[in-house]
Amino acid sequence: SNASAGRPQLAEPHLGAVLASAGLDAEYVRAEGNHLYQRGEDGREVAVVDYAGGYGSLLLGHNHPAITAYAQELLQSGVPVHAQFSLHPEAAELALALDGIVRRETGDTEPFFAVFANTGAEANEAALKHAEMDRGMRLGALLDSVRSGFDAVRDAVRDGSATVPAEVFARFGVDAPGPAALDMLIGRLAAHNEEQAGRPPVFLTPEGSFHGKLAGTVQLTHNEGYRAPFRALAAQARFVPLDRPGTLRKIVDEERATLFGLVLEDGRVRLSEHEAPVVCAFVLEPIQGEGGIRELSAEFVQEIQDVCAEIGAPVVVDEIQSGMGRTGDFLASTRLGLRGDYYTLAKSLGGGLAKISVLLVRASRYRGEFELVHSSTFAKDGFSNRVALKVLELLEADGGAAYRKAAELGDRLLAMLGAVREDFPEVVKDVRGRGLILGLEFHDQSGAPVPAIAEAARAGLFGYLVAGHLLRGHRVRTFPTASAPETLRFEPSILLSDDDIAWLETALRDTCDIVRGGYRRPLALP
Ligand code: PMP
Repeated sequence: SNASAGRPQLAEPHLGAVLASAGLDAEYVRAEGNHLYQRGEDGREVAVVDYAGGYGSLLLGHNHPAITAYAQELLQSGVPVHAQFSLHPEAAELALALDGIVRRETGDTEPFFAVFANTGAEANEAALKHAEMDRGMRLGALLDSVRSGFDAVRDAVRDGSATVPAEVFARFGVDAPGPAALDMLIGRLAAHNEEQAGRPPVFLTPEGSFHGKLAGTVQLTHNEGYRAPFRALAAQARFVPLDRPGTLRKIVDEERATLFGLVLEDGRVRLSEHEAPVVCAFVLEPIQGEGGIRELSAEFVQEIQDVCAEIGAPVVVDEIQSGMGRTGDFLASTRLGLRGDYYTLAKSLGGGLAKISVLLVRASRYRGEFELVHSSTFAKDGFSNRVALKVLELLEADGGAAYRKAAELGDRLLAMLGAVREDFPEVVKDVRGRGLILGLEFHDQSGAPVPAIAEAARAGLFGYLVAGHLLRGHRVRTFPTASAPETLRFEPSILLSDDDIAWLETALRDTCDIVRGGYRRPLALP
């Protein structure tokens, strides 16, 4: 634009250049409901229909009038925004409201405690830290009890009330019977235990997962490009393939760590084995967003629940993109029968205006100590908390009309995408998702009749080429999902209208026609 002509570009100029090369370098001057507005050459506003929906933060649309009015009222009234280390009655209210909604939906009987943060990745980061703190405390308690078992055995052998069978010594290579033998045995067991207890934590997460781009969370984000450069910074995840029954159990078996203890039994010393927690948590999205809008199967979910219960690892349900009513339920996991020990929420919780995220932890898993070691200057601020409460009020109004709306609009949008797929089976491979988190996957177009399309497909940029065409040619805004660039995402707000759906349908049919080679004209690109 003219304003920036001749000035150095210092705000992530490389990204700007990448966007420009795909024709995605748009500037918006206003946003309202399900639309963004550009300034046309004649100075008038040009509407763009927004299917990117702030990547999921705009379930209620841009600048929802009830939210902006409330925000203005809050600012006008001089509400305390930054008052760290004070009582926050509105945070207490928000935590109660979230707990009430989650338990109404899941039927859970235990309360959930809330830890507040600012972004999605940060809530997940808090989840990883909480899980690791909990693992450390469980491991510490186990080591303590094993050590006190050693002490008891030492006392009993010393006062002659117990003896150690020869095979126990033999198993650990202690072949010098005598007074030093028991100390040597205990020394070897303790060294083994220290080594096993010192193994780094392992996180489990499905292939295709996206849990953020911070130092810890990016290691749980499957996309190699985001993750690999930062491998050395944090604990590692093992990625579990979707729908390959038995694989999860195999991975868990490979990660098992056993501690050895000694117990007294009728005057004899017996070896005991104790499983040490190495798997810190299983972290998952009920519907993978950036992984291409993929819902986990009920069978996979059941396997995850069974295995995690067996090894005592918490299940962390990342509802950052899928939650807050987008699928027609507050939590997308509800329909899958998935019950989390932790839940993370962000994006639409802030109503498109506030930056707020929250980690919910089941009471029986919760470590109050965490509150003293994890915080952020900006978390739990008075403005965001209240905006989030307003968002919940809007979602819950009229007996949950917003949830029903999301489900019903989602059905209509999915039906339209399905009809496009039927008419262009050689272009569209699949349409999927639930409610207002939908995806359209293209077939591999590296053999497409239009050379520019085939080239883009071979470079892995086909989805971006399509997004550029949709924007330039049709004023439709959407993007491929971050880790599955052949899938376009559709995450509009509940203000989606029939006109918006028809608008997208026209755009998609035109695009599919060009891709198929039906039109003798190029894609609309810069
Ligand atoms: N988890 C999921 C499921 C997400 O979709 C995202 C964002 N795409 C995040 C975590 C990270 O959230 P944020 O961008 O706010 O850090």
